[in-house]
Amino acid sequence: MIRLNALDCKLKNTILSVRDLLRQSLEQSPLFLLVCPYCGAKGTCNKRGSYERNLVTFPDGKPHVVRLRIPRVQCTCGKSHALLPDFIVPYLSYSLPMILRILSDFFTRRLTIRGICEKYLVSPPLIYRFKKRFLIHKKQWLGILRDMELSTISFMKELLTSSYDRFHDAFLRLTTYSFLQSHKNPANCSRPRFGPADASSLCHDL
Ligand SMILES: [Zn+2]
Repeated sequence: MIRLNALDCKLKNTILSVRDLLRQSLEQSPLFLLVCPYCGAKGTCNKRGSYERNLVTFPDGKPHVVRLRIPRVQCTCGKSHALLPDFIVPYLSYSLPMILRILSDFFTRRLTIRGICEKYLVSPPLIYRFKKRFLIHKKQWLGILRDMELSTISFMKELLTSSYDRFHDAFLRLTTYSFLQSHKNPANCSRPRFGPADASSLCHDL
C-alpha cells in the first residue's frame, strides 16, 4: 500500500467530496514520483488495475456510502500496491473525517452515546473501539508525559485545525502504520534492502 496525501488542507475546512479528494490526490501523485515501499525504488511502478471498495462518509449531516475505485500499481520488483489516500484508514469502512466527527461529539459530550449512534448510524462498541484506538495513538504520538499534559479535546482540536497530511506522514514514519489503523503491518513489509528506520514507515500493504 502506498499512502497518498489528499488532506493537504485543514480537516475542518475540507469541503471537497471524497471522490474529488481521491481524484486530486491521484493527480498530485504521478507514477514517476511514487516510491515503492518494498524496494525503495522511485518511478518504477506501473498501473496494475484497480479494485472497488465502499467508504461511509458524512457529507450532509447523514451517513452516505460512496463506492470508490482504488488504483493499484506494480513495481518492477514484483510487489503490487494499492494507492490509498489519507482520508481512508486502512481496514476501516468509515472515512477519517467521519470518525473524527464521531469522536469529537463523544469527547466534547455534545451528544450522548445514544445520540451519536442515532446521528451516525453506528453502534456503541464501534464508538468505543474508535475511542480506544484514538487514545492509544495519541499517547504514541505525544509520548507519555505530553499525553498527560494535552487533553484529548485539545489534541482533537489540533488535528482538525492543522495540516493533516504533515501529521499523517510523520505519524506513519513514527509508528509504521496510519493514524487510527488497527492492524499491524503485513508480511510483505519484510524489505530486503532497508534498515528498520527507512522504508518501514512507508510499508502498509493490504
Ligand atoms: Zn519495488
